Amino acid sequence: MLVRPRGGAEPAGAECPFCPGNEASTPPEIAAYRKEGSAPNSPGWQVRVIPEADPYFRVEWDLVREGVGMYDKITPRGASELIIESPSHEDTPAGMGPDQLERVLWMYRDRLEDLKRDPKIRDILITRRYGKPGSRISHPYSRVTAIPVIFDDLRRELRESREYYQYKRRCLFCDILRQEQADDDRVVRLTPFFLVVVPYAACAPFETWILPRQHSCAYETLSPEAAADLARLLSGYFGVLAARLGNPSFELTLHTAPNLGAKILQDEWATIADDYHWHLEIVVQPERATRVGGIAVNEVPPEEAAHRLREAWRT
Ligand SMILES: [Zn+2]
Ligand SMILES: [Zn+2]
Repeated sequence: MLVRPRGGAEPAGAECPFCPGNEASTPPEIAAYRKEGSAPNSPGWQVRVIPEADPYFRVEWDLVREGVGMYDKITPRGASELIIESPSHEDTPAGMGPDQLERVLWMYRDRLEDLKRDPKIRDILITRRYGKPGSRISHPYSRVTAIPVIFDDLRRELRESREYYQYKRRCLFCDILRQEQADDDRVVRLTPFFLVVVPYAACAPFETWILPRQHSCAYETLSPEAAADLARLLSGYFGVLAARLGNPSFELTLHTAPNLGAKILQDEWATIADDYHWHLEIVVQPERATRVGGIAVNEVPPEEAAHRLREAWRT
């Protein structure tokens, strides 16, 4: 998708615009978890969501689809939001602790539910980049990008999951859960609600998937018990990366069902509740991932990566 080039993404200056007390230097907040009594756009928040200052996608724009000769054009109607994960500037995924991570995970759910009320938004991507080289803002945040089409990566995954389901009459990811637990070679950890694995054909060293053990196509179905389990699990995983594997950069991406309320064709997503399974994917050092002609090249066998993660977590 072609979007216009952007100018300065964040206000310049020594002061961090995401720190408490500087709320006026960001656009007004969209949502926040606050201790009782604190007013919007003032300190006292625990997690705060703001529109990106110079977004690629805007909710105010009308959605227009048009043909340009044989080509298609669509307005970049959507939303670009930042979830400020903690009032503490120095917090990191490994350091903020499970309670704070759980609030962040809950905010992911809130934002998905809210944005999916807009039938012109087809897909919502939530990502968490840590340690991006050249990044100007070190205050911890996640990014939410909502757009009027399906992101390519998800489109491919949805199609492959549907084709597998049409052939096997089973969910691809439920089958992966069963197979990985039986093989055990690539399992990093098993918790009451989740399986952590290095996928069979990992695209990069230490790529990690976190699969909910209970089938559901949409992240928003996350229960409070599962959210607490996921927060503890992520806290442990980020701790292992930070303390035992040299504190590498990483990118976490939430893979979840698109906005089913934004169906365009009658038979679209007819079996998605059964054929798709939400999960998290984490790529370690994404800036070093190697691709040749669109094919990922990874020199670390997934069994070895899983073994190292498992051992580092245990000790
Ligand atoms: Zn800050
Ligand atoms: Zn499943």
